[in-house]
Amino acid sequence: MFQINENYLKLPGSYLFSTIAKRVAAYKEANPDQDIISLGIGDVTQPLVPAIVNRLHSAVDEMADAATFKGYAPDLGYAFLRQAIVDNDYKARGVDISTDEIFVSDGAKSDSANIQEIFGSDNKIAVCDPVYPVYVDSNVMAGRTGTYDAATERWSDVIYMPCTAANNFAPELPKETPDLIYLCFPNNPTGSTITKPQLQEWVDYANKVGACIIYDAAYEAYITEENVAHSIYECEGAKTCAIEIRSFSKNAGFTGTRLGFTVIPKDLKCGEVSLNALWARRHGTKFNGAPYIIQAAGAAVYTDEGKAQLKEQVGYYQRNAKVIYDGLKEAGYTVSGGVNAPYIWMETPDNMSSWDFFDKLLEHAHVVGTPGSGFGPSGEGYFRLTAFGTYENTVKAVERIKNM
Ligand code: PLP
Repeated sequence: MFQINENYLKLPGSYLFSTIAKRVAAYKEANPDQDIISLGIGDVTQPLVPAIVNRLHSAVDEMADAATFKGYAPDLGYAFLRQAIVDNDYKARGVDISTDEIFVSDGAKSDSANIQEIFGSDNKIAVCDPVYPVYVDSNVMAGRTGTYDAATERWSDVIYMPCTAANNFAPELPKETPDLIYLCFPNNPTGSTITKPQLQEWVDYANKVGACIIYDAAYEAYITEENVAHSIYECEGAKTCAIEIRSFSKNAGFTGTRLGFTVIPKDLKCGEVSLNALWARRHGTKFNGAPYIIQAAGAAVYTDEGKAQLKEQVGYYQRNAKVIYDGLKEAGYTVSGGVNAPYIWMETPDNMSSWDFFDKLLEHAHVVGTPGSGFGPSGEGYFRLTAFGTYENTVKAVERIKNM
């Protein structure tokens, strides 16, 4: 008789977005004429830019011709894309990463969920609270998190690093020593980030205690401030302690097109064992490459035309972020994020719970956001709005919140 992976049964179930969808559906049914604006889910709304669309079309044409047809992609990604990544994301920032340290994938979600596979099952993870849920859930599935306490909403074997207004949403070095440290800056959901010197402290700490940082830089394109690192490898010593995960979703609108990459420096070792080699082995066995068409479109991101068009597209969302941030501040709310990230994190007024505020906003402003408590216990009392809507809807939503 087969058995299941019982770790899956431990998952408390992420009902966040389905609960939101159900509440919105019920409200719509009772109020069919209401025009509801969603600033909830972190998906983009603007179409792919012309440079990318044109390259998609021409890559499809290549697939239609026997002379240029491509079958399986190289496991680690096409050389043209890995070189463009190295040149633009790293060399241009003074960071020395080589093409064989880049692993092209179908996105940051899969990479951030799968990367734990190359680490020992006894490794202890540390995560920010609130947090992008994938980091914890993937470790639950692997049996690395102990038991779940529904009352505290915490796992016994996970080190939580609260990020609240009290510490300016920047995690503090944990008292207990972790083996794996998940960091995401600019952060989802808080929209905050840390400075390069602060990130350097994490790198120094990880090197000192022998921990590995898994650095999710999915929102790197939204950084506007000078003293914020775009890559963890801008910090000295990061190549011996950090893996970096990147995405094409939010800088280039690939949420539905799927492309990302992970960087594992060859200097990152456990004793004599190279993590780069382990991930190459894992990638080669379990992944058959991102599609040629998509990788070709990904390379268009790095052309002059692509860069100019994407700067404008990211700027469009950044303008939304400013509209939300300024509007809420003007209305008297306590707001953070939005400056280096497409997320605005607000304190709920009058000590309201995140869900009560969700209901209030839906009923009185007809705006949907995301309750902070859905990202972890330290998110209680906070609420997330995203800048990924259309400009018109964003302006309208903020006006409604102001008038609420
Ligand atoms: N990492 C973080 C922190 C995210 O917020 C998201 C998506 O919202 C992802 C990764 C997923 O990125 P991708 O679309 O490349 O899978």
